[in-house]
Amino acid sequence: MPRIKGGYLRKIARVDLNRGKFKVESVKHEFAIKYIGGRGWGARILWDEVSVTVDPLSADNKVIVATGPLTGLLIPGAAKTSFNTISPQTGLYGDSNMGGMFGTELKQAGFDALILEKAASNPCYIWIENGMIEVRDARHLWGMGSLDAEIALKKELGDELIRVASIGPAGEKLVKFACVTGDYGRQAGRTGIGAVLGSKKVKAIAVRGDQDIPVADIDALETVFEEAENYLTKHRDLRIWQRQGTMTTVDWSQINAALPTRNFQAATYENYQLINGDSMETRTKIANRACFMCPMACGQYNLVKQGSHQGISVEGPEYETASLLGSNCALPTIEDVVYANHLCDNFGIDTISAGNVAAFAMECFEKGILTKEQVGGLELRFGNSEALFQLLEMIAYRKGIGDLLAEGVKKASQTIGKGSEKFAMQVKGLEISGYDHRAAQAQALAYATCDVGAHHNRAWAITYDIKVGREAYSKDKAEWVIYLQHIRPLFDCLGTCRLQWVELALDPEYYARFYSAATGVPVTLAGLLKASERIYNLTRAISLRRGLTAKDDWLPDRDFEDPVSDGSISAAKLDRNKFRDLLRLYYELRGWDENGIPTREKLGELELGDVSKELEPLRAQK
Ligand code: SF4
Repeated sequence: MPRIKGGYLRKIARVDLNRGKFKVESVKHEFAIKYIGGRGWGARILWDEVSVTVDPLSADNKVIVATGPLTGLLIPGAAKTSFNTISPQTGLYGDSNMGGMFGTELKQAGFDALILEKAASNPCYIWIENGMIEVRDARHLWGMGSLDAEIALKKELGDELIRVASIGPAGEKLVKFACVTGDYGRQAGRTGIGAVLGSKKVKAIAVRGDQDIPVADIDALETVFEEAENYLTKHRDLRIWQRQGTMTTVDWSQINAALPTRNFQAATYENYQLINGDSMETRTKIANRACFMCPMACGQYNLVKQGSHQGISVEGPEYETASLLGSNCALPTIEDVVYANHLCDNFGIDTISAGNVAAFAMECFEKGILTKEQVGGLELRFGNSEALFQLLEMIAYRKGIGDLLAEGVKKASQTIGKGSEKFAMQVKGLEISGYDHRAAQAQALAYATCDVGAHHNRAWAITYDIKVGREAYSKDKAEWVIYLQHIRPLFDCLGTCRLQWVELALDPEYYARFYSAATGVPVTLAGLLKASERIYNLTRAISLRRGLTAKDDWLPDRDFEDPVSDGSISAAKLDRNKFRDLLRLYYELRGWDENGIPTREKLGELELGDVSKELEPLRAQK
């Protein structure tokens, strides 16, 4: 096994929140390389250390905050940090990653990763500075919004350059889709990491560091960086990315009938031009923001310049927010989307789940399944922005119907009943990202099989459906989903952003060159993808061990029963039998058995023999 000479610090800080103590553990070369970093490290630590039966909101759950070997280095978009845990939203393996500057600062403070274990008895924040960690009293911060807490902490510590990751009141109240916010607007949004931090009484992690991150071959890294940077800065689409970021996707989704509208009842929105990138640019945008070392600077800073919420600003919206809080709740203006985004960020709730949950409640209200009395007197109709704003607050503080909705659409629909389960748009308990997939079989498969629930982050496959045909349940689609499920999470392991590859077509071979130059460990892209496959099988195994079955790789009934009949799509819906066949084919191509359990042979090939042994009881049950 080659020795690591850079990129990694090979140091993990284990923080005992109950005792307020920490210790530093060194990471073995083999472990670092085999699981790459970021979500790979987090998954292996969860597999090894967290009990199979752990309650996600108990002190026995852990949160692993892990950078990657490329985080903080001379690499475009080398800004990502993964937050990994057992998700309170799904009960299964969960992770989410955050950009900005937090990860770079954590490495400059001397750590690749943190393991947060047990729970504090009082609200606390974790202060990290150049190799030292303190667990400090945060009772004065408890109750504050995420953004407000970041401002307060920086003021208190007297340094605007401190990097903060914080939770809002929703995390404190254990809202199942509570998120973590860093740098005033970068989120680890999905799978309820904020609720797990809230259960541990961790209000924030604040970090400051000024140490150099070692690099094995700085000349080689500079050479690769210059090539990549040269390519990116000359790309003809760079400027539109800087101007609108992911908001350009609103028009794309509209044209392709993929824009979730009124709780995925329609796939186009008649008012899309009022909430799209052009609207943002002309009405609310005031600045760009970039993560560490990123020329794309896709972050859009917006200000409400008129109306009752004048003066409110936020980093965002990006596409997922505009689609799920915008078209999916039928908001009429970009100002409303910006304000809803601000509320979610400060309350500390994931905008994807929040938009789904609110739209679900609106559909229930319009269908008479929820009465005005049940929703606290709100006229909870699609397009009623003020009702949405109030509902978000009720969810964040678990007031009235907000207490049930804070559990997410799966649990809420099971409690409400009356057929609402059909349009609870979730997979495995995680609300669906912003792409209608009824005429997109690869995207549907990607959602159904995603290891954390329905999340586009693992496989954004709809572009392939559009390219090869939106009616085919073909083998190439299953193969493409598997490829995406390996390459996209690879970026979360390396600690870099994927958008340079996804949107500007930066050759993924660059990442093998970056890794080799940074660490001194020679790799190929194929080798990195093999490691990513290992990690995907490991996260599957974590969830299987916690009770996941093949039945959970499935989609809401709406997808099979209610056709999309607007935009460029007419009467499109998924076919249950064909989709089941596609799922079987996917399992086969993956080397999983008919029950979705990785075979002994597959896990052996991936050097996960120990994991395979633990799955034997599950194989025997089938
Ligand atoms: S493309 Fe956007 S999200 Fe990715 S690193 Fe750049 S600014 Fe951050």
